[in-house]
Amino acid sequence: MTAVIALVGRPNVGKSTFFNRLTRTREALVADFPGLTRDRHYGTAQFEGRQYLVIDTGGFEPEEREGLVAAMAIQTRLAIQEADAICFLVDAKEGLSAQDEEIAMELRRGGKPIYLVVNKMDAKGAVSELPEFHRLGLGMPYTISAAHGHGVETLLEAVFSDLPSEEIAQQDAGKGPRIAMLGRPNVGKSTLVNAMLGEKRVLVFDEPGTTRDSIRIPYERDGKPYVMIDTAGMRRRARVGEGLEKLSVLKTLGALREADVVLLVLDARVGIAEQDSHLVGVAVELGRPIVVVINKWDGMSPHERKAVKQELERRLSFIQYAPVYTISALHGTGVGDLYKSIDRLWQDSRKHFSTGELNRALGEIIETHQPPMVGGRRIKLRYCHQGGENPVTLVFHGNQLTRLPGSYKRYLESAFRKALHLDSIPLRLLFRQGE
Ligand code: GDP
Ligand code: GDP
Repeated sequence: MTAVIALVGRPNVGKSTFFNRLTRTREALVADFPGLTRDRHYGTAQFEGRQYLVIDTGGFEPEEREGLVAAMAIQTRLAIQEADAICFLVDAKEGLSAQDEEIAMELRRGGKPIYLVVNKMDAKGAVSELPEFHRLGLGMPYTISAAHGHGVETLLEAVFSDLPSEEIAQQDAGKGPRIAMLGRPNVGKSTLVNAMLGEKRVLVFDEPGTTRDSIRIPYERDGKPYVMIDTAGMRRRARVGEGLEKLSVLKTLGALREADVVLLVLDARVGIAEQDSHLVGVAVELGRPIVVVINKWDGMSPHERKAVKQELERRLSFIQYAPVYTISALHGTGVGDLYKSIDRLWQDSRKHFSTGELNRALGEIIETHQPPMVGGRRIKLRYCHQGGENPVTLVFHGNQLTRLPGSYKRYLESAFRKALHLDSIPLRLLFRQGE
């Protein structure tokens, strides 16, 4: 399970600076695409080969003080729910503030591991302000400079040595694929959840003011088990404002982590928005298989339909492998077909391939098309094995692999897709030098 680390703290302590530092250093595991390179509030990063998700809970500044505290409290509470570890940032230059103490109180209630991070310690060894931070009762502070990078390594080592080791979540195992819906408000997620569950719809309670986890609804269809992770209801609870927008993003992230298959729901009449690309980006980086669902296909002219398809092809070119369906959730048209892809993607993403099988494929693939020469020597791919499931991860060993051009990596990916009959799920290729 991908670990989630939340950055919490009042405005200006350096959360976004720290966020940028963490996410910039990630190794690119998938091709770059627009959306992930922009300023954002959640992103993926790597520490010693381990992938994790970072959430920046700040970045918005309501005008009134009261609003600020309230909004911060909501974000903080959400972070506690969603995160495996919390980095609580305070400002070495400003010292301890009343807001810091409020946040600390909230965090202590949450029971998640908290790392007190004193930021802006630009000069190493400047420790004069530290004793006052001990007053927060959160243990030894880690000193960092988000701007310059000092102390970040030590902090991450501490965080990761406390986290449980990675393993696929066993919750709901044997209950069939867990399905999550991804999409902006009003694209038709609730309508689709209803259509997919049919009459067996379980009513979801929306109590104002309570934050709740996404609801899991186990159900059966044609004798097969499924679990719907329903985040659609949460919108109704919400009020206006930016805090809200984020709130649902965090909820959606929670659902993405749990899901085996993600349905990306788009409104044919609206197209795809920046926020969609962000979330798709995260789904891709987490390695989740995606089904693109273009909803509200009813009542559109052939001309409009063609234009929509063309636009989506262009905007979603980085998930070319994802199956695309056009449906009407309202009328139930095309909804049953979604299950074909859900079943297949779920099975494919859990497949295991023997090392022998992979290396036979590798041999043929190399024979068809040799890796290029660099500096007078041919790049050598010696062997590969499967490094993990969901996403199916292929680990390649050989010489000069860091110099393997992108074009050859793309060839490898498409050739392995063909050889292994995995045409619709994300594949992750990792390269290990010199073994
Ligand atoms: P946020 O509101 O918590 O996201 O804070 P920002 O990341 O926007 O940072 C607020 C201000 O603090 C910006 O002017 C940053 O350049 C500055 N800042 C962030 N980290 C450091 C640091 O390590 N040292 C110094 N001197 N300034 C920093
Ligand atoms: P959510 O915010 O994504 O959960 O969206 P809802 O399911 O609440 O749907 C938003 C609006 O779109 C409602 O008025 C639905 O009736 C309408 N809607 C949903 N699916 C369709 C569809 O397939 N066709 C049409 N025409 N309207 C739809």
